[in-house]
Amino acid sequence: MEERAEILTAGDASGNGMVFKITSASGVDVFGLATKNFYGGNWDLGPTWNYLVLAEKPFLVDTGRTGTLHSLLEMIAGTGFSLGDLDSIVLSHGHEDHDGGLPEIVSMTGASVKANPVYERLIKLQPDKVPEGIDKDFPPSCWHCIMPESFVENNCRKYHRNRNGLTIKNIFDPDNALGENIQVIALPGHSPDAVGILIDEDIFIVGDNVLPHISPSPTQIASFKLVSGIFPPEQSDVRQAFGLEAYLRSLKTMQRVGEAHPDILSLPGHRLYYYDQWNHFPLADRTREIIEHHITRCEGIMTVLENGPKTVKEIVTAHFEPSLLEGMGFYMAKNEILSHLELLVDCGDIQPVDGQYASRNGSGHFSSHIQSLEPW
Ligand SMILES: [Zn+2]
Ligand SMILES: [Zn+2]
Repeated sequence: MEERAEILTAGDASGNGMVFKITSASGVDVFGLATKNFYGGNWDLGPTWNYLVLAEKPFLVDTGRTGTLHSLLEMIAGTGFSLGDLDSIVLSHGHEDHDGGLPEIVSMTGASVKANPVYERLIKLQPDKVPEGIDKDFPPSCWHCIMPESFVENNCRKYHRNRNGLTIKNIFDPDNALGENIQVIALPGHSPDAVGILIDEDIFIVGDNVLPHISPSPTQIASFKLVSGIFPPEQSDVRQAFGLEAYLRSLKTMQRVGEAHPDILSLPGHRLYYYDQWNHFPLADRTREIIEHHITRCEGIMTVLENGPKTVKEIVTAHFEPSLLEGMGFYMAKNEILSHLELLVDCGDIQPVDGQYASRNGSGHFSSHIQSLEPW
């Protein structure tokens, strides 16, 4: 990174406000633009990294968190690029720290939006299909949301309404290709609509699918069960895009890219610059590390269950350090545990019994199961 990146604007120690430029093997300029994110204590992600790619048809990958578009536009202006030349906006995935500024920038520029078609299904309001007890103003992407009403009121309602009006082009449709030597790879799991963008097999915009220091949170199959009704029968395989297993397969897909191209430069959605330094990672090593991390987490859960059945809350409390469970930390930790429990149930290592989870004869099939998973 140090050798290849030209820093145009220095940011703070976490990378906030930083702008840099790198150039791909065939001469495509890629600008990295870091916009502010919420600070989440021990679960802090650091700023969101958005990327402006000056391919023949220039495109922007991600648009930061709601409320940060102004600074993103300033950064883009600072690169000398004129927004009027923007052909499309591509989404790495549909999390709010990546598409927050999207409706606004679309209405400003008229650029088209290209994303995984699963994204379009998840952002369109479907009031007649909202399950019992869930807010009618929520799109399917948020039917599993656990945030308190005060947060939703300030951060989400307007965002949902605005996103609902967007027209989304299918990024996998050859008519919507991003350019020569630019490949879009589906990487579901962290989010069911996640993709990676490979430029010249030299630069890989990986979004939140692999990050330095921190392990991206997996989705749950339970979330799919909530939204399954919004997908047409021909898209029934979307189920595969949810859960820890989907995520592990995406890690293996990225691992394969990393093994084929050991010098590839991965550009993540967070932490590219953090702790006052670049945090470049060899892709094959980092993906392997994260896969091992999930195996270790499964082992940890099995150990917690050795002394008898436990509720999810008891497992969360036994597995994580108390400092990680403060405030919203508890919900993040619970989400993490639930996706691992789903995989352990699927592997036959544990079973749900009366609101608790019980080990099944101390079996540990999960490890060989995870090892044997194939890339997509
Ligand atoms: Zn994300
Ligand atoms: Zn993110």
